[in-house]
Amino acid sequence: MTKKYDVIIIGAGAAGLMSAIEVGKRGRKVLLIDHAKKIGEKIRISGGGRCNFTNINIHPSKFISKNPKFVISALKQYTQNNFIDLIKKHNIKFHEKKLGQLFCDQSAQQIVDMLLLECQTANVTIKKEITITEVDKQGEQYFIVVGKEKYFCNSLIIATGGLSVPKIGASKFGYDIAQKFNLNIVETLPALVPLTFSEKILAICKELTGLSVEAVVSFKKILFEEGMLFTHRGLSGPSILQISSYWKLGEDIKINLSPKLDVIKFLEDRKNSNPKQDINVIVSEILPKRLAHIICNENNVSGNICELSNKILNKLSNSINAWAINPTGSEGYKTAEVTLGGIDTNEISSKTMMSKKHPGLFFIGEVVDVTGHLGGYNFQWAWSSGYVAGRYA
Ligand SMILES: Cc1cc2nc3c(=O)[nH]c(=O)nc-3n(C[C@H](O)[C@H](O)[C@H](O)COP(=O)(O)OP(=O)(O)OC[C@H]3O[C@@H](n4cnc5c(N)ncnc54)[C@H](O)[C@@H]3O)c2cc1C
Repeated sequence: MTKKYDVIIIGAGAAGLMSAIEVGKRGRKVLLIDHAKKIGEKIRISGGGRCNFTNINIHPSKFISKNPKFVISALKQYTQNNFIDLIKKHNIKFHEKKLGQLFCDQSAQQIVDMLLLECQTANVTIKKEITITEVDKQGEQYFIVVGKEKYFCNSLIIATGGLSVPKIGASKFGYDIAQKFNLNIVETLPALVPLTFSEKILAICKELTGLSVEAVVSFKKILFEEGMLFTHRGLSGPSILQISSYWKLGEDIKINLSPKLDVIKFLEDRKNSNPKQDINVIVSEILPKRLAHIICNENNVSGNICELSNKILNKLSNSINAWAINPTGSEGYKTAEVTLGGIDTNEISSKTMMSKKHPGLFFIGEVVDVTGHLGGYNFQWAWSSGYVAGRYA
């Protein structure tokens, strides 16, 4: 049996839902398909269940891509304010948590419900728990095969997301389709992900599990000042997740555990003003006690500060202001929030999100080589790119 649609969208996540709404509003016959049991599951679990749906400070510099200018057009065509207006239209209450990050006051489910209601109003047909066995092109038309049925369409939108959190539906489907149509893919890697370490650093992390500090975490010239969390598997927290999107295997990251203080100057002053004070007590003034104790131990320092040479104090201050450590890897796609890399932006028009080689074939959302910083940027990319494809498909 064959069926005909104007537009078929594969993947009913953030980007696919947004795209379906816009296509439907234009009066086109649209089918939105997902293989998962529940629609919009990643939205529902996002932002700790409150969905950090956008950021007040959306700017192209907050996105990582081989072509950093690629995002400009879509972000202009559908801005954070457009999404905020949609939220307001549905009376969803929200607040800014920090750094421009907007969260629902109540629940991320409100965003899913809002998108589903918009789909209903726009006459979008949604099918879930669907397994697609083939995708191809016949003449000017695309088709997908589902069981014994063949669905044809003029425009096919791929919105299957990245590889993170496979247990709620992530798959490599979008990349496979890109490959089938001979489109280049930028290497994919887990991003916004906790980092792991070899034994020595891991032992420190384990001992400090649960401790959170404000830190500046840097990789080369890129730095983030946010919370950092010690866990029994390594390091996590916003500053670590952010740097994980930039860090390269084999290289060090640097951590400033006391970013507001020039520690060597502080220690030298203290040596002059209070030479008999214990070094552990002094370091505990600037760091949580458990951390201070471990750092003193690691540097083999104890006793009165006057007994410690300036060289030793220098080494100690360095391990606080510029702790250089070498991650062995990350926790991987199981816990990563997003996937770095994806469909090469050179293959896609930034104005329409349509493939340059294959008219009628679109890629949107996380499956594309665009990765936002932590803080609502990834959803805004999904809304913006989804909207754009929805206008042109
Ligand atoms: C735990 C967690 C929390 C997050 N929190 C935030 C946050 O607060 N703010 C933020 O901006 N970003 C957040 N993100 C990132 C954000 O969720 C994603 O960037 C965003 O969902 C990407 O949208 P998408 O539509 O491209 O992909 P997705 O939302 O992942 O949707 C892809 C859809 O495609 C479907 N699919 C996959 N393969 C197939 C197939 N073979 N056949 C049919 N369907 C298929 C999937 O089931 C899924 O429904 C979070 C991510 C995670 C994992």
